[in-house]
Amino acid sequence: MTSFKTLPDYAPEKYHDFSIPENRAAMEKAIAKIRSGFGKKYANIINGKETGAEKYFASVNPGKSSEIIGHFPLATADQAVEAVESAWKAFQTWSKTTPEHRAELLLTAARLMKERRHEFSAMMILEAGKNFAEAEADTAEAIDFMEFYAREALRYAQPSELYQMPGEKDEMFYLPMGVIVVIPPWNFPCAILTGMTVAALVTGNTVVLKPASDTPAIGHMVAELLYEAGFPKAVLNFVSGSGGTIGDTLVAHPKTRMIAFTGSLDVGLRINELASKVQPGQIWLKRIVAELGGKDAIIVNKDADLESAAQGIVASAFGFQGQKCSACSRAIIHRDVYDQVLNRVVELTSKLTVGDAATNPNMGPVSSERAMKTILQYIETGRKEGRLVFGGNRVSEDGYYLAPTIIADVKPDAVIAQEEIFGPVLAVIKAENFDHALEIANGTKYGLTGAVYSADPQILQRAKDEFFVGNLYLNRKCTGAMVGSHPFGGFNMSGTDSKAGGKDYLLLFLQAKSVATKL
Ligand code: NAD
Repeated sequence: MTSFKTLPDYAPEKYHDFSIPENRAAMEKAIAKIRSGFGKKYANIINGKETGAEKYFASVNPGKSSEIIGHFPLATADQAVEAVESAWKAFQTWSKTTPEHRAELLLTAARLMKERRHEFSAMMILEAGKNFAEAEADTAEAIDFMEFYAREALRYAQPSELYQMPGEKDEMFYLPMGVIVVIPPWNFPCAILTGMTVAALVTGNTVVLKPASDTPAIGHMVAELLYEAGFPKAVLNFVSGSGGTIGDTLVAHPKTRMIAFTGSLDVGLRINELASKVQPGQIWLKRIVAELGGKDAIIVNKDADLESAAQGIVASAFGFQGQKCSACSRAIIHRDVYDQVLNRVVELTSKLTVGDAATNPNMGPVSSERAMKTILQYIETGRKEGRLVFGGNRVSEDGYYLAPTIIADVKPDAVIAQEEIFGPVLAVIKAENFDHALEIANGTKYGLTGAVYSADPQILQRAKDEFFVGNLYLNRKCTGAMVGSHPFGGFNMSGTDSKAGGKDYLLLFLQAKSVATKL
């Protein structure tokens, strides 16, 4: 039996080097295998059964509009209700299973994903446009979440340390909550979807999972893997469909106990508002974990290692086409080194390759036509708000490929310096000094990630004290949070600071019961 004490310590997954021909060939083989299964009709899993729908929608390769990944049911509001009600029924027995049993299932799932990691990555290369390294980082993070939360569930099952009142035995237990609606984004379609889902399941809750509409196939792969690992179908409902149609139903249902959401600010605010309204028959206040957008900044002070700073900016701004909540969308540079850093950033950016993710370029396509149009509109705004120094255009007829785009001399209050663009667009802003740089960095409604490059320990200490973000990085890029090392979640409108991949995370999926027994 798996126990807290006998498990080896958690350690993150290692990555492959895809410049080595045999590693590249292994990924190409996985891509071919995943491609060979394209075009099929998928089913939802509701109340433990495969369930179709009257209407279906297609998931399409964003890099090749003729390539259909698969057809997914557009679930109806009635089916969403059935999913919540059957999850509530399943909760009555699942909540009584032991944490050891659930952790064992999760470790089995982690093992299965390790065995097939390239297949999960291949699906993301084709469905989300990630290059090999970005896709593998996503799969590895999903595995890390499973390994980490399995151990954490066992830790929360240990007796709590309490002051023992004389003449009493005092105890506290952590109980599951109920039905948790899990709504992930498309940009980490394996890691975030897996992390939120397994955090709910391993703590004894049942789940209604609605995958993002742009990436249902990878979500379906994860659900199938969890069933194969032994999680009963009844405890994990998989319901694809339009967020607008079934999202409200899932969130508002009186038997929904909690919503674990990661996505945009607008949708997060809507969920927050709807979930706060008590529905007829509802007997609890719904809990919400909402991890939202960012407008993340890298500050380069005049004493920084400028080469390292320029490399960090380019990696953070254009990795996965800038479609990370942690992406650097503002480079705030001290005036004394502004031109030098800007020139080097442009030079490094000019070397980036853009193309079909299956050929492993630096950058693949953006997620959808809708996303591409929005990003191009922001670029138009940016042309007026600053000086376009690189990119600014679409680079192909088919597929949603955009050039990495750099707009210099942007004012701190410009639209492109305030709103989340969620694409490969970097606004470069000049700061008079470090105080000014901090003021600019803190001057948006968000507070997710940030980085400061400086050789001065006092400057770095000031960043620790005054840069108001949930995840701060010093002398390194602002993307690439690791489970167990960089618990992740933001301040202000970036969300509820839930700290995914940290030791407090599972507590959000549990409720504590205190028991005092008179001796
Ligand atoms: P989105 O808000 O458009 O969609 C997120 C999910 O919500 C999807 O599954 C979508 O189908 C669903 N949805 C849409 N309308 C809904 C409704 N009315 N009710 C319920 N669900 C609904 O976000 P996205 O485009 O998928 O993801 C990008 C956003 O996610 C960016 O803003 C990014 O910063 C953010 N993000 C944040 C984090 C973080 O940890 N803070 C991590 C990744 C992404």
